[in-house]
Amino acid sequence: MRIVVDLSRCEGYAQCAFLAPDAFRMHGEEALMYDPNPDDSRREQVLRAAAACPVQAILVDQLEGRDVPVEASTS
Ligand code: SF4
Repeated sequence: MRIVVDLSRCEGYAQCAFLAPDAFRMHGEEALMYDPNPDDSRREQVLRAAAACPVQAILVDQLEGRDVPVEASTS
């Protein structure tokens, strides 16, 4: 899956880092580091983090149709 964080919106509340620590990490007090391509097994965490972001800075799967690697997992 793909995620994009609009860092101009991000206020560093760290909700996302708390809810999905594998994908989001605070670097220092305010700078957010994130994995733009977290494993699909993290989807639920990441969606929860996106929903919890107070400024809706986290966009999930907005880049469909570009060079998105499709991993064949038919579950
Ligand atoms: S929850 Fe939103 S505002 Fe807070 S650090 Fe994450 S992206 Fe930034």
